Amino acid sequence: MAHSTFELLEHHDYGELHLARDAATGLRAIIAIHDTRMGPALGGCRFIHYESEQAAIVDALRLARGMTYKAALAGIPHGGGKSVIIKPQTQFDRAALFRAFGRFIDNLGGHYITAEDSGTGIEDMEIVRGVTKHVTGVKPERGGSGDPSPFTALGVRRGIEACVKRELGRDDLEGVRVAVQGVGHVGYHLCRELHALGAALTVADIDPLKAERAERELGATIVSLDDIFSTECDVFAPCALGSALNDDTIPHLQCRIVAGAANNQLAEPRHGDDLMQRGILYAPDYAINAGGLINVAQEYAGYDEASVRERTMKIYDTIYEIADRAQQAMAPTYRIADTLVEERLAKVEA
Ligand code: NAD
Repeated sequence: MAHSTFELLEHHDYGELHLARDAATGLRAIIAIHDTRMGPALGGCRFIHYESEQAAIVDALRLARGMTYKAALAGIPHGGGKSVIIKPQTQFDRAALFRAFGRFIDNLGGHYITAEDSGTGIEDMEIVRGVTKHVTGVKPERGGSGDPSPFTALGVRRGIEACVKRELGRDDLEGVRVAVQGVGHVGYHLCRELHALGAALTVADIDPLKAERAERELGATIVSLDDIFSTECDVFAPCALGSALNDDTIPHLQCRIVAGAANNQLAEPRHGDDLMQRGILYAPDYAINAGGLINVAQEYAGYDEASVRERTMKIYDTIYEIADRAQQAMAPTYRIADTLVEERLAKVEA
């Protein structure tokens, strides 16, 4: 159903949405700023096709809200923002388009900081960097922080350790069985971390070469895309696409813990309740996968790898606290994570 823009802002409880059009380049861009109580809004830029302008706006609004929660829980001094450049239907000059986008960002004076997301890459961020300093994800030789996935993986490993401590009462991962769905950038680094600590790995990937690399280098057992869900294990780690936890997959799980890198793992919030009812501890996705965001936020502040590592290691404490509070409140972990964020934001307001 079509809504007016203000109806959309009301529905998503927003105060700020910026739109820009540049006739010379064909730029049509949206910047959604969800919350800046913790600091300037930080979040990636998508450059993909949308069915309608409204779909693009709704995508930006949804994603920016998620960034507020992820940043607040990771304790980084940023709010949530996200941008979308609507992909032109006709021929366009990519460099000119991203320069125009950079000017749009610069005009906001640092209120929003951009980064890579679906459809954008380091080359685009380099072009934006030529116009504004309010961008992260540039090349390491220009002060950038490089590939964030090793830090995302480190944080996920720490989150898994916290869950293992709570559920299995163990301080180490020796012999702990982890089933990893998707061994791409983050999944592969996660497997390396886990293997180094003695975990036993089972993996599945639609790309057989990626699964075979984990088998060859890390002794992982390969299973089919369906069988990864029903693999008997201690930890199921979704590291592929979103919505891995849904009505079809959850009944097959044979694990004590779900803890992985993918964004939006729960197809719907109620699937978090379902996991709790089955006695499975779920590490909320935006709490456990914040290592990459910590990395780009540090890039904006002046890159310091030791500090990124130290902050990312603390994901253990965050996940432990969430699991602890969830148990005490007999509430699902995803709701406890949201409550923690809301408490932190309310403190800033007070
Ligand atoms: P990636 O594309 O490098 O890896 C994803 C892997 O999953 C690929 O190897 C792909 O072949 C595989 N895959 C896709 N569908 C699959 C399926 N149905 N079954 C099994 N494997 C499948 O992406 P990535 O950067 O590793 O990110 C993985 C997830 O983590 C994404 O959801 C991403 O949004 C999230 N995430 C990534 C980062 C980061 O630092 N890269 C940070 C936070 C969250």
